[in-house]
Amino acid sequence: MAGIALKKIQKSYGALRVIHDIDIEIESGEFLVLVGPSGCGKSTLLRMIAGLEEISGGELDIGGRTVNLLPPAERNIAMVFQDYALYPHMSVRENMSFGLKMRGGEQPDIDNRVNQAADILKIQDYLDRRPAQLSGGQRQRVAMGRAIVREPAAFLFDEPLSNLDAALRVEMRLEIAKLHRRMKATTVYVTHDQVEAMTLADRIVVMNGGVVEQVGKPLDLYHKPSSLFVARFIGSPT
Ligand code: ADP
Ligand code: MG
Repeated sequence: MAGIALKKIQKSYGALRVIHDIDIEIESGEFLVLVGPSGCGKSTLLRMIAGLEEISGGELDIGGRTVNLLPPAERNIAMVFQDYALYPHMSVRENMSFGLKMRGGEQPDIDNRVNQAADILKIQDYLDRRPAQLSGGQRQRVAMGRAIVREPAAFLFDEPLSNLDAALRVEMRLEIAKLHRRMKATTVYVTHDQVEAMTLADRIVVMNGGVVEQVGKPLDLYHKPSSLFVARFIGSPT
């Protein structure tokens, strides 16, 4: 696993600056949660870490190496999206194997990794199904399985549970917590859900309008919010 350092990271779309000088050090194995209102730049930040979006300014280091100019495939980062982004014409097994095959992996090793991830996520019985034959929760597990098999340096989650109903959301949150205890993977996790943020995070970053309002451990933010904005967002008594 690798730490991630954002040093004065900026993003502009044309003349519109949407991320201003963000500095965050994410430790190897840390579970960092990003929260903030819609449009504050959370997805843009994740996409820059993944290499899906060009960085306009500043330096991004992964595992001690500056990666600003590296394409996504060379960053060894796995991203899990809210809409799962599974290939509809492939089976679950094929969805999970595809990235490894593209990378030139050996079939026995690929099968091993897929079976292991399927065990962890309890999707062994669905490996031959297509995504359309799965429930929302099962699809989310497949999306997580596809990320795990790559054994990435870090995981990025962009509101992965927001399309699930309340009961499934709780179940998947507990599953993600368990997975993190087991894998100790460096994780950056974007959510709208206060309970997810408070229970999953080692530290929470509260963003607002492209800047960091406050960074801290969940209970520190809850008890010592630096502003009314943070208090409202974290749900502190005000
Ligand atoms: P969040 O994920 O926190 O809701 P985003 O990172 O999606 O926010 O968006 C941050 C800001 O950047 C918003 O104002 C959004 O409209 C703008 N933005 C995002 N993508 C683009 C794009 N491709 N072109 C222009 N503006 C964009
Ligand atoms: Mg977003």
